[in-house]
Amino acid sequence: MLEIVRNGDIVDDIVFDTYFEDSKIYSLTDSVCTVIVQSFIHEQVLREYLTYLSSILSEVLNVPITCQIALKSDVEKVFSGEQPVKEFSPTGIYINPDYTFDNFVVGQSNAEPHAAALAVSCNPGRFYNPLFIYGATGLGKTHLLQSIANYISNKNPEFSVLLMTASDFVDGVVKYQSNLDYYKKALSKADVFLIDDVQFLVDKKKSEEIFFYVFNELVDRKKQIVLTSDCDAREIKGLEDRLVSRFSGGLTVSISAPEFETAVRIIKSKIEREAIGLDIDDKVIDLIAANYSSDIRQLEGTLNRLIFNLVDSDDNETIDLNFALSVLKEKNHNYKELTVKAIKDAIREKYGLSRGQLEGKSRMNKIVQARHIAMYLCRKHLDLTFDAIGEAFGKRDHSTVMSACDRIERLIKTDKAYKIAVNQVEDLFINN
Ligand code: ADP
Ligand code: MG
Repeated sequence: MLEIVRNGDIVDDIVFDTYFEDSKIYSLTDSVCTVIVQSFIHEQVLREYLTYLSSILSEVLNVPITCQIALKSDVEKVFSGEQPVKEFSPTGIYINPDYTFDNFVVGQSNAEPHAAALAVSCNPGRFYNPLFIYGATGLGKTHLLQSIANYISNKNPEFSVLLMTASDFVDGVVKYQSNLDYYKKALSKADVFLIDDVQFLVDKKKSEEIFFYVFNELVDRKKQIVLTSDCDAREIKGLEDRLVSRFSGGLTVSISAPEFETAVRIIKSKIEREAIGLDIDDKVIDLIAANYSSDIRQLEGTLNRLIFNLVDSDDNETIDLNFALSVLKEKNHNYKELTVKAIKDAIREKYGLSRGQLEGKSRMNKIVQARHIAMYLCRKHLDLTFDAIGEAFGKRDHSTVMSACDRIERLIKTDKAYKIAVNQVEDLFINN
């Protein structure tokens, strides 16, 4: 690609030598090409050429590619531990504009939570308080919560919409331990309070107590609360009774795995949004829907994998059944060779840690981060249970592992440098 840029007449030689020469294509995945640059100035200059670079790549590879830029130093910060596990602020929680009601596909499995989520978005605090949505992982709970946040923020920009995971909430309790009154008051000012994965509150006495206070304050003032969890409030083992009763006091709805038809529509909607122009055989869509619909995250992952492989291969222009089967078979093969040890080794290499440090008790930022990423990668690539991962990392509790995986997933979604850093670790064990 750089050759085309150098030889074309869009970029002057001097500009090319100064800004393009040292910039590297780091990865080409997800229909996205990531370029790593040396400095902030490089970043600013190259940003002007992003559309041009995207069009060249799309033409060369014959699929739509979007280019993005990341600063080399930002990626390296992740490994040096300089970039702490994301700072918590009681007001500045990330709302992701990509998750909206518009791109949430509704079917039998999620019609009820969808209708309830939309109802509280149209009339916050009026219908049922709290709205409690529960279901297994990967079925759209966070997507619905984000949709509520986006909908209300757009319609009522003056509203203070607070969206956080329960582990963010717990982090806040730790961070503000010397000034818990401030923390409680800051949260109680919300007009809408959205808490994801509320099961993480379990066994955290102080957090449960503060949550109870904030919850009551908000309900008294008719402020909307929406909670998500991996199971019904009554089944969250160890949750204080008074919280169970509060959580069950509004409307509880469950979300289940999409039935075949809905899974097919989810895949088609994703193709329409992200892989415009790609030719994917209906039989392939059926294959993915039939085999991966118990977790929509996996469904999306499988589709992405097929798209990347198409980009990589020279002689395919269509994802047909044969191509899909060969790619998916290969994936299973790789899986067998991957081990917890391979993932731990890759992480230790990148972070320069000993085995004892990775699995031990240290709370040093850099070490905690490395440990969390390793746990996340074990979950993603080996499909181990949270218990099994906890066991492999110094006999840690399954809720610690869950919260670590959740945190890394969120950071990957919200922080480009972080995503690239994690991809770099993956490269170490996947390409071996
Ligand atoms: P959970 O919070 O329940 O673990 P998420 O909300 O993170 O699950 O969903 C996992 C992925 O599946 C996300 O990328 C989300 O956008 C997608 N997804 C889930 N449900 C739907 C749906 N009904 N329509 C479109 N995409 C969905
Ligand atoms: Mg979630």
